[in-house]
Amino acid sequence: MKTPSNKLKNRRLKLRRLLRRPRENRVRPRSRTRLRFSPTAWAKLLYLRDRGGTEVGGFGIAPAADLLYVEDVRLVRQACTVVSVAFDDLSVAEFFDEQVDAGRRPEQFGRIWIHTHPGESAEPSCVDEETFARAFGSSDWSVMFILARGGKTYCRLQFSTGPGGGFQIPVAVDFDREFAASDAKSWSLDYANCVRAAEEFARLGTPGAASFADAALFGPEQALDGFQESALRKEPFFDERPL
Ligand SMILES: [Zn+2]
Repeated sequence: MKTPSNKLKNRRLKLRRLLRRPRENRVRPRSRTRLRFSPTAWAKLLYLRDRGGTEVGGFGIAPAADLLYVEDVRLVRQACTVVSVAFDDLSVAEFFDEQVDAGRRPEQFGRIWIHTHPGESAEPSCVDEETFARAFGSSDWSVMFILARGGKTYCRLQFSTGPGGGFQIPVAVDFDREFAASDAKSWSLDYANCVRAAEEFARLGTPGAASFADAALFGPEQALDGFQESALRKEPFFDERPL
């Protein structure tokens, strides 16, 4: 015979079962891994996204102790269209040098690839996938983050160590830390210095822009291949350097 306390227990269990969400809808607790942006970095990215009609790309900068926290978004010279971004490999190499001089390690500035989409969709294109695989595929881990004009985001953390693989992770703006003020003047300058429509570069044809124009002609894969090579060249340097 059931005691009153047993009856209560059974009713509670039944209620809990009724409240339980279907298995496929449950949020996995392991999704605590997130890509976080400082409010300043996020504001800068929104500014850059909305400045022109093309895609814009850059690298996320993270502190050594928190590699999935983007505290700044840095642009390099690039030839852009509404569906692609081609980085100038010389500019990427300069960016690397500058970051090394600032005392950062490659995982702080060369693992998070960020770009915007001028349309509504944040889904990676075939070109995005190819670029990511070629340019970042040999890194032990990397992130592809896309922000669309409508506000949609796509973020994938990719591993090449062990069996390899990747999974999408959530994105958040992290207000928990101190953050710098808006700096639209320097963001605007960055944009003006780095972002060019691909056809504009082809038209200019100035000697100084040769490398950039080449990047536009060769497409994003080759431009980023150069970036990856320079990254690999620099990696041993870090290991040899006394800390
Ligand atoms: Zn894209």
